[in-house]
Amino acid sequence: MRDLLFLDGAMGTMLQTFGLQPGECPELLNVSRADWVKKIHRSYAKAGADIVETNTFGGNRIKLGSYGLSKMAYELNYAGVRLAKEATEGMDVFVAASMGPTGRLMEPLGDVDFHTCYEAFKEQVRAFQDAGADIISIETMSSLDEAKCALMAARDTTNLPIICHLSFDRGGRTVMGDDPVTAVAVSQTLGAFAVGANCSVGPSEMVGVIHAMSKVSDIPISAEPNAGLPELVDGVIVYPETPETMAEHAEELVRAGASIVGGCCGTTPEHIRAIRRRLGKLREPATANEVFQRLCIKWKLRL
Ligand SMILES: [Zn+2]
Repeated sequence: MRDLLFLDGAMGTMLQTFGLQPGECPELLNVSRADWVKKIHRSYAKAGADIVETNTFGGNRIKLGSYGLSKMAYELNYAGVRLAKEATEGMDVFVAASMGPTGRLMEPLGDVDFHTCYEAFKEQVRAFQDAGADIISIETMSSLDEAKCALMAARDTTNLPIICHLSFDRGGRTVMGDDPVTAVAVSQTLGAFAVGANCSVGPSEMVGVIHAMSKVSDIPISAEPNAGLPELVDGVIVYPETPETMAEHAEELVRAGASIVGGCCGTTPEHIRAIRRRLGKLREPATANEVFQRLCIKWKLRL
């Protein structure tokens, strides 16, 4: 028995099934198709997610700039949190505001400086905080430098608990060469509530990363693998992991040390339902609220 929390699954690939077109800005749907976004949140909450993640992954002004929507950054992030709050009102569910990379490399390798990224992330977190988010979830960072920038921006803007997820490639390192142990050290030092891995190459490959993290981490570990790498079958994108195989891997991730578990690209409410069904018995008989409060108390004592 342990303190275990269930995250939801993918947002982007779910929006595609509703009609998000290639080249369209997913975050714009927070104001143009609020009904789609709310429906997805509700189906994850009903499937057993304790935490739903907002449709704000690409909501920083740098990333929104590629759609000419930088000026809408605050509005789209604020709306994203409100939709998740409204969709789960009255349920034992927390809202984590998702925060992904800018899509540009930071100096000296790239052309965007640390301060510009930091300010863009701060603006996003201000909107999250104002709209009433419960958690901040940094995700799919393939550079520890950028993860650090997002974490510092969040920490300097809010007292909300922050989860710092990086995305690891085959070989257990990020694209930029960062390893899980350093990711834990940096996240802990900067006051993260939890550290972890998301997306990456698939759930079974993530087990080694989570195990390496758990050996050195004093804070909870979060695992949100994708449903394997997508394959093109007869012109249709298919993710290899079924709800059942995903649930098996989720159990391996929990046994390797994860205490927050969910899914990324290609996962659906059915995957989360299967994970919850299989792993629900490992959790102390407690509500999500009780588990979350307990973890928060430990986190605050550590700060
Ligand atoms: Zn993903």
